Amino acid sequence: MNTKYVFVSGGVASSLGKGIISASLAKLLQARGLRVTIQKFDPYINIDPGTLNPYEHGECYVTEDGAETDLDLGHYERFLGVHTSKANNVTTGKIYNTVISKEREGAYLGKTVQIVPHITDEIKRRMLLLGKSGKYDIVITEIGGTVGDMESQPFVEAVRQLQWELPEEDCLTIHLTLVPYLSAAKELKTKPTQHSVQQLQRWGVQPDIIVCRTEHELTPELRRKMALFCNVKPGHVIQSMDAPSIYQVPLNMARENLDKLVLEHFQIDNAPEPDLTRWMSFLDKLNNPKSTVDIALVGKYVELQDAYKSILESFVHAGAANECKVNVHSIHSEYLDKDNVEEKLSSMDGILVAPGFGERGLEGKIVAIRYARENNLPFFGICLGMQMCVVEFARNVLGLKDAASTEVNPQTTTPVIDLMEDQKSTTIKGGTMRLGAYECVLDENSLAYKIYGSRTISERHRHRYEFNNDYLSAIEAAGMKATGKNPETSLVEIVEIPTHPFFIGVQFHPELKSTPEHPQPIFVSFVKAALEHRDNRLK
Ligand code: GLN
Repeated sequence: MNTKYVFVSGGVASSLGKGIISASLAKLLQARGLRVTIQKFDPYINIDPGTLNPYEHGECYVTEDGAETDLDLGHYERFLGVHTSKANNVTTGKIYNTVISKEREGAYLGKTVQIVPHITDEIKRRMLLLGKSGKYDIVITEIGGTVGDMESQPFVEAVRQLQWELPEEDCLTIHLTLVPYLSAAKELKTKPTQHSVQQLQRWGVQPDIIVCRTEHELTPELRRKMALFCNVKPGHVIQSMDAPSIYQVPLNMARENLDKLVLEHFQIDNAPEPDLTRWMSFLDKLNNPKSTVDIALVGKYVELQDAYKSILESFVHAGAANECKVNVHSIHSEYLDKDNVEEKLSSMDGILVAPGFGERGLEGKIVAIRYARENNLPFFGICLGMQMCVVEFARNVLGLKDAASTEVNPQTTTPVIDLMEDQKSTTIKGGTMRLGAYECVLDENSLAYKIYGSRTISERHRHRYEFNNDYLSAIEAAGMKATGKNPETSLVEIVEIPTHPFFIGVQFHPELKSTPEHPQPIFVSFVKAALEHRDNRLK
């Protein structure tokens, strides 16, 4: 069978959930035994989102092979349970970078280099790349942005050309739109969808399937009307109702026959019915919690849900694994100080201090960590959160008042967190952090070992600073232990306080590998510890 390609575009508005629709379709096809991957093409000019502020574009997701990518890749991995890679996220910046480098090398000698065909050819080459690996039956490509935006035009043109070049049964396009409800008129409105599809058609692409985001059921008449005016087959207009959880969406899409329509188009008639047993058992637990816990997420980007996407999703997975609902309370570290910490954190069952960069809100994080440490409150620090628990311990337990990370205080006399050696000569910001998966060896006599149940683990990283081993023996002597280390470099990856009921800081980002079917073990144990804390608190 040839590799089949699905292209997903969006219209009317952004944030309609193309990523979730793509991931849901992929999940259903995967559950039928097909090998599926998803890739995202983003129209912005940054090479990757690694240099973007989370307020701009939400969390920066990191793949095993160290690519800094769009957060939609997190959804792809969570739904499919399959790793993505550098090749799964392409931006306009990457496309132009390749074409311009080739131009300098002389690859187009004598030719004028143009958007069509040179940029569009490079887009097409990358759209087909994962399919050519032979590893996938189906490659789903999500086109970022909204059809009609000037910057997405070359991507849509590439899809138009592929629709023409590939055999009809190997290429399918889905357009996601919004069908708004006007409460004054008590009516769902189809005109924005019609206009959005017209825009796509003006650029030469005829969608095969239209998925409509809607708050109310689409009637058969509305579906027929949109099919007629958008020129798609009756039955090829499907609804995506607002769902209580994103993990419900694959089931909603199955009910709307999205996977069947896709298989029909691809002339795949031997695929078994989807086996969603594990997914359903996760959903069952998710929807029927037996208890609740309150966890504080202390960070500085808390106004924006997307900034800590993977952490929030990890709590959904870990909650289900513990059959409890995790209420995550976002606490702005900038407004946390020693006078209000008791008031803000005393009703919590656990505290997670989030990753981050720069000085803003750091002292508030340290105050939160001290509170958790001194009050036996379950604590989990990730990346910057781990670095700050080392700073807090050095300051308040060892009495090293000037202890700091050189990220915020380059002049400190006590650099307990310092720049990694190979970072000292790095001046370029893009793609130069310690990125991607690294192995870590655990001390057998540790909480981490109890959690993971194995000596060697692998987790993903994204940071420039590290635990300064010059202070290791003093810190360990005072009661904080380094229980996980990189086997090659001896970099400290995990710290714990064994006398505390649950206190763990990790230099890596465990949230990036949590999925509904394989919840991340530290999150699962942290929620369990929080539940125990709650029981004790209520007693
Ligand atoms: N700013 C810190 C560093 O670069 C932590 C990064 C993070 O939390 N991802 O080391």
